[in-house]
This record gives sequence, C-alpha cells and structure tokens, in this order.
Amino acid sequence: MTVPRIWRKNQQYYNLVGKKCSECSAMFFPPRSVCTECGGIAMLDHRFQGVGNIVTFTVNRTPMPDPEGEILDIPARSIPYVLAVIRLAEGPSLTAEIIEADIDGIEIGKKVSVVFRKLVEKGERGIIQYGYKFRLER
Ligand SMILES: [Zn+2]
Repeated sequence: MTVPRIWRKNQQYYNLVGKKCSECSAMFFPPRSVCTECGGIAMLDHRFQGVGNIVTFTVNRTPMPDPEGEILDIPARSIPYVLAVIRLAEGPSLTAEIIEADIDGIEIGKKVSVVFRKLVEKGERGIIQYGYKFRLER
C-alpha cells in the first residue's frame, strides 16, 4: 500500500525546514545547497522554531489571481490581506502572509509565529496545497 504523498511530505508541509551550514553554522530559508557565507556544501536540514519579528509589511487590497488567472475564492485570500517580511529568530528572512490579525494592530517589530494553512484546494481530485503563514504573538 502506498502512503499518500501528503503524509509522506508531512515534515515539509508542517515545519519550516531550511539548511544550516555544517562549516560556519549560517542558516538559510528557503533551503540552499551551497553556503553563501563560506562556500561550504555540507548543508544540514534545520528545523526553524517558527518565531520572528516583522521587518516590514504591506496591506494588499487587490485580489490575487491564481496561476490560471482565476481569482482565488478561499477565505485565506480574502482582501485586504497583509504580506510581511519576517526575520526569523535564527536570522534568515522570508516573506509571508500575516493572518488572523487586526490590520491596525500590525506594526514593524512585532513578534510573530508560524502557522500552517491550506493555501489552495482545487477540482474533483481535491489537490490541496499547504503553506506557512504567520500570526501575531499574543
Ligand atoms: Zn558556511
């Protein structure tokens, strides 16, 4: 019996997994195979804590089309939505949506933590994509 791909990839879907250089300990997200700090290629998987601070953010009031040009009709993409640059506690920065927050309460420097949410669900085969988002720490 084959295990559905969604379960085999569970680790990837429900964790922020990047890389840590075994030579100089620099950390990267998303993962990369060569260290930009020392040129090392011995990169180890590293699971980030999933906490960080907002570096900057923008409030988007325009619906985002999916790759086929259709407007995504899922609650997570209801507008307005907030995209933020987040610096993880371990150092790397990434861009992610801030959810479940009062937009007026979002400020540069605020602490956030990762959550994993369904991004897209399509068609009769029910292809589901999961991804990371962040919310304000209380
Ligand atoms: Zn390195």
